[in-house]
Amino acid sequence: AEQWQSVPLAPPDSIFQLTAAYKEDTFNKKINLGVGAYRDDDNKPWILPVVKEATRILLNDETLDHEYLPITGLPEFTTAAAKLILGPSSPALAEGRVASVQTISGTGANHLGALFLSRFYQWTGEKKVWLSNPTWANHHAIFKNVGIEPVEYPYYDPKTIGLDFNGFVNALKTAPDRSVFLLHGCAHNPTGVDPTAEQWTTIAEIMLAKKHYAFLDCAYQGFASGDLDKDAWAVRFFVEKGVALLVCQSFAKNAGLYGERVGALHLVSATEEASARVKSQLSVLQRSEISNPPSHGARIVSLILNDPAMFEGWKRDIETMAGRIIEMRKELFRLLTEELHTPGNWDHIVNQIGMFSFTGINPSQSKALTREAHVYLTVNGRISMAGLNTHNVQYFAESLDKVVR
Ligand code: PLP
Repeated sequence: AEQWQSVPLAPPDSIFQLTAAYKEDTFNKKINLGVGAYRDDDNKPWILPVVKEATRILLNDETLDHEYLPITGLPEFTTAAAKLILGPSSPALAEGRVASVQTISGTGANHLGALFLSRFYQWTGEKKVWLSNPTWANHHAIFKNVGIEPVEYPYYDPKTIGLDFNGFVNALKTAPDRSVFLLHGCAHNPTGVDPTAEQWTTIAEIMLAKKHYAFLDCAYQGFASGDLDKDAWAVRFFVEKGVALLVCQSFAKNAGLYGERVGALHLVSATEEASARVKSQLSVLQRSEISNPPSHGARIVSLILNDPAMFEGWKRDIETMAGRIIEMRKELFRLLTEELHTPGNWDHIVNQIGMFSFTGINPSQSKALTREAHVYLTVNGRISMAGLNTHNVQYFAESLDKVVR
């Protein structure tokens, strides 16, 4: 008999499918708003000037070779990366309570964090993780892969196109003590809706009282507001308050290093001694999964983080990217409200943060945009703001206006 008879054919990845359909489309005004990667005003991928400079330095460095990195990664990278997300004056760092491991970008950090919890978290019942509804689709798959069942907490409220804070708080309060909650550190994907500082404070208080564990996924530091410290506020606040947590960090978006797979997992413990034990086990897990992380991207980021002048250059590049996206939000809002007088409230376009925006349009309107205007987006109405630019925003606004009328 033929082998693999019982293997079902998996559906293609929906974002990948969208990009393929966009590429085949020959219409000259077509727009791709599906992709979660930065594009410049000419719809081109952008290599950050500071990354170009770092690459040049690495190419000319005769001391570098292609030996294996340590299992937990390039030490000058992980140390600087921890400081970047937790803050230079983090009490956890000063007290040696942070175990940092270089990972295969943010996805790898999520995987290693999930794997570690699956093995070592003091589960009281079944292994479960609470995910926001909705969330990055990969979260579901990543936790299932390590035997942790995803369950959902309310997050997005379609009526307000904003946060369902009451639903969220209620889930935090009614979940069993010591539950694991996955939270997006900033720039929630796919909604672009973040809690306010006041709401974060309430969330932290409940998590402390209930002894919940915070699995913080931070894939967009700096990319959201344009300011690295501002976007790390919630993470640092949680550490300061003493919420038990780990942080997943990615340099894909904020350094434009998507394909280089540079990221880190930072697990904060109560004591230095516990942290050493945690790190030893993370190292054992990493060894059997990838042996050693890749060196090139980590060297690039390490140079940028550890050189004051390059760090300043990077901050300027981040402002360029975040600034362009914020400008597109403003321009789309202006077109819809002042020029086209599109029915409905569009405040969320400027209130939401980061790469993505939940427009609030329904699946049939979303499909009509693709079918009639050649605008490609996921059917949930999420658009990547990075796909908009000064050349296509008018056409997009007009097309959106038509489908909601
Ligand atoms: N977490 C979230 C919420 C994301 O949106 C992404 C990327 O889209 C990631 C993690 C991980 O991305 P990467 O593995 O490219 O760093």
